Amino acid sequence: MTVYNADFVSHLLPDLVAACDAAAVQNVRSGHGGPFGASLSVYNRDSGALVPVAGPVCNAVLETGLAGAHAEDQVLQPAALHALRDALQTVGRGCAIVVLASSGESCPACYSKIEIVARTLVTDGLIEAGAFVLAYGASYEDTRVVAGFNDEPYHADMAGPLQNRMIPCVRGDGALPVPARVVMPDGAAYDGADGRMAQGTPLFTPEIQAIYTACRAQKKAGVDEPWNLRRAVLYTTAPAVGPLMYAESQWANIGRIVQCDGPVALTEAPDATNDALFAVVAARPYNGPGTAVHVVRVTPFANLAQHEWARLSEAGQVAHYNGIEA
Ligand SMILES: [Zn+2]
Repeated sequence: MTVYNADFVSHLLPDLVAACDAAAVQNVRSGHGGPFGASLSVYNRDSGALVPVAGPVCNAVLETGLAGAHAEDQVLQPAALHALRDALQTVGRGCAIVVLASSGESCPACYSKIEIVARTLVTDGLIEAGAFVLAYGASYEDTRVVAGFNDEPYHADMAGPLQNRMIPCVRGDGALPVPARVVMPDGAAYDGADGRMAQGTPLFTPEIQAIYTACRAQKKAGVDEPWNLRRAVLYTTAPAVGPLMYAESQWANIGRIVQCDGPVALTEAPDATNDALFAVVAARPYNGPGTAVHVVRVTPFANLAQHEWARLSEAGQVAHYNGIEA
């Protein structure tokens, strides 16, 4: 990135991240979800003007029953992506920088979504390569120590060797009639269609749709922890396991991913194989070769929402709900 000016880094990004933190305090108090907020803006690097696009919105796992309904996911919903594309057309490709601000460091599922959105915007000619900034406040370590949410093992799992993965990925025999299907331990099956064209978002892949359909069915049936799919099997016809389907499966407690023959599926990103995208999402430190997103950690960061979560947790008013406990 060569586009930074001092004000962008020293004032604008910290202000955006602080606003996400403030919204997350309210989210915790209202019981909608965890202590995490995110917003989406377009910065005009020529004029210095900021166009707010969406948010701050907050983690909505408890409200939606979906394991991946994190703040970053909520700010990348179809309406927000539509507004983002409009804002980018107004500001113009030559001077637009997309800023996704998040109060916490993004988990691999959210980071996958953000990479995919950034790549789609570049491929569609709406931004220049490198003009997508992800700014965050609390690191994985801060989030674990203060609030008790531990995302780091999910990343370590994806960065580690294939044969040691938390979710075994195997080849199945036989063909699948749909691009993706979740089969629960009791045999109930939930199919996922490719919703990307119809819904105008690159994120509604068949695997994501299948997982969400299963979670929504559990929520409707009044199942405790509807986001937990209890080691269900995810079947996919994708040519390789991409980071989005894998990381979302971590959160949803999928027990196995089985690749089958069947309808030809698109890759998760428009410009990379699923294997290549997986490697980019797992790579650390951030901002290595091949990344479409430029990651900036904002310091100092007050982290008010996570301290509020810790306070309410000690008082027994909120409880850890999914993921790996610290
Ligand atoms: Zn996340």
